[in-house]
Amino acid sequence: MRSIAIINQKGGVGKTTSAVNLSAALAEAGYRVGLIDLDPQAHASLHLGVGPAPGEADPKPTTYQLLTGDVPLDEVWQPVGENLLVASSHIDLAAAEVELAGVVGREVILRDALAEMKQDLDFVLIDCPPSLGILTLNALSAVDDVFLPLQPHYLALHGLSKLLQTIDLVRRRLNDRLKLAGVVRCLYESGTRLAAEVSDDVAAFFQEAATGNTAWSDVRLFETPIRRNIRLAEAPSHEQSIFQYAPQSAGAEDYAQLAKEVIALYADVVNPSAKSSILP
Ligand code: ADP
Ligand code: MG
Repeated sequence: MRSIAIINQKGGVGKTTSAVNLSAALAEAGYRVGLIDLDPQAHASLHLGVGPAPGEADPKPTTYQLLTGDVPLDEVWQPVGENLLVASSHIDLAAAEVELAGVVGREVILRDALAEMKQDLDFVLIDCPPSLGILTLNALSAVDDVFLPLQPHYLALHGLSKLLQTIDLVRRRLNDRLKLAGVVRCLYESGTRLAAEVSDDVAAFFQEAATGNTAWSDVRLFETPIRRNIRLAEAPSHEQSIFQYAPQSAGAEDYAQLAKEVIALYADVVNPSAKSSILP
């Protein structure tokens, strides 16, 4: 099993869209995928139709109970389609920071929950909130790898060093296998000079940063940019992944192509229980 946290402390850069649609693409390709929603806004859960229904009589436990109530992951998963499980979020999770303040080992609750999980999954993806608080720390402590979605504009790299420092600190103190594995360009305006320039800047930034033994010495810039595509923005309101909502769209094409790169990246460690495939 390979676990990947999708992290950027900025909002609106494509974290949730990537977490949902990459999970869906991997599931469609025959991998068993678990998507953990760690954002109190629950956008990934809502996107896939497993979001919190207001006033529900007997609601399923969420990642809030997982982190604060000792509820195992196996009781939180909800199936979405054949190969995809979602651990949904709830606005209550916003209080986790405060509620966990005095708890010993609060940064590693998710790590322990994943270790005790009984499901046999190929990939676990974690959609993180736009902050570097206790929720993101739990994700960083739990996963093998980080994917960083970036929106290529001229401030894309601004604030990145704080994120990289955090990743490195977690690697040294809590999770020695953690590394920043990939950068995904999202909301990409193909054909613009800006997109090309920022792509060059990002590549140069990580090349420079890769000197020395850090958590990002082996990062790759994924070749596939996720183009700006209105279908990707529409899909959440239909509670569908892009592959259900608009399988012929540029958005579906891009996430399927990105999934191919991800599958290739992990070919040595993750074997598919392959069945049908949406990947061309
Ligand atoms: P984050 O999780 O980082 O805050 P989101 O994935 O929620 O970012 O994306 C922010 C907004 O942009 C959402 O409304 C989403 O639907 C939209 N969006 C994300 N990626 C694309 C894209 N490639 N093309 C068009 N809209 C997108
Ligand atoms: Mg989000």
